[in-house]
Amino acid sequence: MYEFQKQLDNAEKKLKGTGGDTDYSDKKFYERFSAEYFEYGKGGETPQNAGYDLRFFSEVKNKKLEKMGDRVIERYSPSVLSETTGISFSDKKYIFKRIFKNFKREVRVYNKRGGRKFLKKDKTAFYENIVMAIPDKIKDDDKFCCPSCGNIHKLKTLEQDCPDCKTPSFITDLFPRVISCFNMKTRALMLKDMLKTLLICCLAGIIAGIPFGVFRMISDMSMPYMTKSLNELISDVFISPLQGAAAGAAATVFIVLGQLIYISIKNAPAAAKANENKKKINEKILEYDKNFSYEYFESRVVYLAQLLIFCDERDKLLVCSLGHTVRKFNIIDSVYSGSMDVKSIEIDENICTVELEISMLDIHDNGEKVFCREDTFIMKLQKDITKTSDISFEVKNAVCAKCGESFDGWNNSICSSCQKEYHLEENDWIVKAFMLK
Ligand SMILES: [Zn+2]
Ligand SMILES: [Zn+2]
Repeated sequence: MYEFQKQLDNAEKKLKGTGGDTDYSDKKFYERFSAEYFEYGKGGETPQNAGYDLRFFSEVKNKKLEKMGDRVIERYSPSVLSETTGISFSDKKYIFKRIFKNFKREVRVYNKRGGRKFLKKDKTAFYENIVMAIPDKIKDDDKFCCPSCGNIHKLKTLEQDCPDCKTPSFITDLFPRVISCFNMKTRALMLKDMLKTLLICCLAGIIAGIPFGVFRMISDMSMPYMTKSLNELISDVFISPLQGAAAGAAATVFIVLGQLIYISIKNAPAAAKANENKKKINEKILEYDKNFSYEYFESRVVYLAQLLIFCDERDKLLVCSLGHTVRKFNIIDSVYSGSMDVKSIEIDENICTVELEISMLDIHDNGEKVFCREDTFIMKLQKDITKTSDISFEVKNAVCAKCGESFDGWNNSICSSCQKEYHLEENDWIVKAFMLK
C-alpha cells in the first residue's frame, strides 16, 4: 500500500513538477513555434499552431498599433547556456505545458511622425503555453474551431471539409496549439557578453605581458656574454603576452562563474516572491478546485493584462466586467516583469476574487516621443470557484452551460442555440478592475 502511494505521488510530482519534464518532442514543438513567432515579430505570418485566443490577441494588438501609426519590429537571438524547460500537468482530456527559453530581444519602433526610430534591447524568457490532447480521449463529436476560418464545428465535420471554408483539418492541425505566449524579463548570460569578457580579459593579459616581454629581452641582451640567438630574443618578447592571454582566458572562466552566481542571487527574491504567491493562492483555491494550477493562472493573468493594455474597446469584451472606466493606454509593447503580487484573495459564496499587482515593462508612444517605463497595474479577477478549471478553455470556443452548444465568446454573450446569457466567470477568470497604479 505504501509503495503504491509512493508511486502515485511520484507520478503526480512528475505532472506538476518544475522543470525537467519536457521531452524531445516538446522541445521540437517549442522551437518550431518560437521560430514562426519570431518571424511574425518581424512582420511575417501568424504561426500555424497559434490558438484561437492568441490569434484574437494578435488582431487586437495589430489594430492598436495601426491606429497609433507605429510599426514594432522584434528580433530574437538565443542566449548562452539556455535550455528549454517547463512544467506540465494534465486533466482527463488535455495536457497543459508551459515551456520557456531565454533570448536576447531587440525592439525597434518606427512611427509615422518622421519615422524616428526607437531601439530597446533586453533579455527575456519567451514562454509558450501549450495545450496537447491526450490520445483516445478526443471524440468525433467534440467541437473545435476550424484552423482556417475559425468557425466552430464537430471534429468529424472538420475532418471531412469545413462547411464554411471547405478546408479539411485533422487532429494534428488542432493539437498541440499555443493558447498564449509572452515575454518575461529575465537575467541571463548572453553569448555576446561572454565573448566580450573573454576578449577584454585576453587583451588585458596581452597588454600586461608586453612590458615583461620587452624587459626580458633587454635583460638578456645586456648580459655580458650574450648566449641567445636572435630567434630566442624575439620569442622572449612574445612569450609573456601569450602567458598574459592565457591568464586572461582563465580569468574569464572565473568572471563567468561569478556572473552566474550573481544572476542566481539577483533572481532569488523574485523566485521567493513567486513561491509565496503560489502558496497563498494554492492554499485557498485547491481546496475547491483540484484542477487549479498557479502556472496556468499566472499565464492567463498575463494574457488578460496584455489584452486589456492593447484593447480600446473593453466594453465589448466578455472577459471584462469592469465597474469603472479605464483610460486608453498609449502602450505599444509590453513585457511581463515577472512580478505578480497577490494583495488579497477572498471566497464569497462560490465566487473567488483575487486582487493583485502586476508589473510590466512597457514602451509608450505619447504622440510626441517613444519611451520605456515600468508600469504596475492593479487587477481584480473573479471566477466561480465551484466550477473546475478547464486547461483547454478558449473564449473563442466557449460552451453553453445549458445546451452544450459551442459559440464564439469574443463576439457573442448570448447562446445562439438556446438564448441563455453566457457567464464567462463560470468557465474562467474575468477582469473586474484594471488600472494603472
Ligand atoms: Zn473553416
Ligand atoms: Zn445554449
